[in-house]
Amino acid sequence: MKSSAFELKHARTLGEATELLAGADGNAKVLAGGQSLVPMLNLRLARPKLLVDIKRASGFRELAADDKVFSIGAGWTHAEIEDGVLEDPTRGLLRSVAHGIAYRAVRNRGTMGGSLAHADPAADWVSTLAALGAVIVAQGGEEQPKRYAAESFVDGAFSTKLGESEVIAAIEVPRLSADASWAYQKICRKTGEFANAIGVAVLDQKAGIKRVLAGATSGSPALLPETAARLAEAGPGAACEIAAEEIRRVLPNLDIDTQELHAVAVRRALATLGGRQGR
Ligand SMILES: Cc1cc2nc3c(=O)[nH]c(=O)nc-3n(C[C@H](O)[C@H](O)[C@H](O)COP(=O)(O)OP(=O)(O)OC[C@H]3O[C@@H](n4cnc5c(N)ncnc54)[C@H](O)[C@@H]3O)c2cc1C
Repeated sequence: MKSSAFELKHARTLGEATELLAGADGNAKVLAGGQSLVPMLNLRLARPKLLVDIKRASGFRELAADDKVFSIGAGWTHAEIEDGVLEDPTRGLLRSVAHGIAYRAVRNRGTMGGSLAHADPAADWVSTLAALGAVIVAQGGEEQPKRYAAESFVDGAFSTKLGESEVIAAIEVPRLSADASWAYQKICRKTGEFANAIGVAVLDQKAGIKRVLAGATSGSPALLPETAARLAEAGPGAACEIAAEEIRRVLPNLDIDTQELHAVAVRRALATLGGRQGR
């Protein structure tokens, strides 16, 4: 199928993009890498009257750093993160996750911001950034940018807190210390496919980060605070013992097989983390 007719405008700045969105009465969409949007246009699942191309907008690929946080412009692609073109403040977690997204042609164009805005529950960045406690910075009409915690940014499948005329400008990722360990487990039928279940564990006692997460849940990713506390206090083996029970409690609407699949992903992540700590 072909898309329905639309007008295409190229925004020079993110501010200009938000103005164009605001003036379109809900009939506009931002175009970044196009890897999710273009198929949706062609299937006519999206029929915007206006597309606002932000790929070359100034402010879309800015990098900023201090000793606690590394801010990544939303326009950096999965491939650039995979290749280490920019610094990885997470001691390899971002690079490793980027490498597992789709295949190279998709990674060459798909952006971190586009993936977050699209909010496919099975996508990788939504879960990874929530597990890291990252912050999503969005530009709208107001002077001050809005800041959303990645863990609560996604409301459900393909739905986020982003306002109609807001554009994701950057993602602030906490720096992990040299003591940190992380593990990311994606269960999918073939390498590079969307996940059926994701388990993430990040432990950085020095930076005060202890987070365990079940992702690809069909809604928003689910943090597992009790499992994370047990991980920090008693280690991965003890955390494994309570993970499945907490998953059943925080994801009660999933059927028992799917809950178990998530438990497998989380236990694998914890086991991998255990291996890393032991080395
Ligand atoms: C075959 C295939 C396999 C894939 N496999 C995976 C996978 O395994 N894991 C995974 O995580 N992803 C996967 N993806 C999705 C891929 O990562 C996309 O790149 C990503 O979801 C969208 O990024 P994009 O930059 O292409 O956004 P686009 O397609 O340009 O936009 C997607 C949506 O986000 C909005 N948008 C884009 N950028 C912004 C912004 N800065 N601010 C506000 N709104 C914005 C658009 O308006 C649109 O609604 C796959 C895609 C394909 C085609």
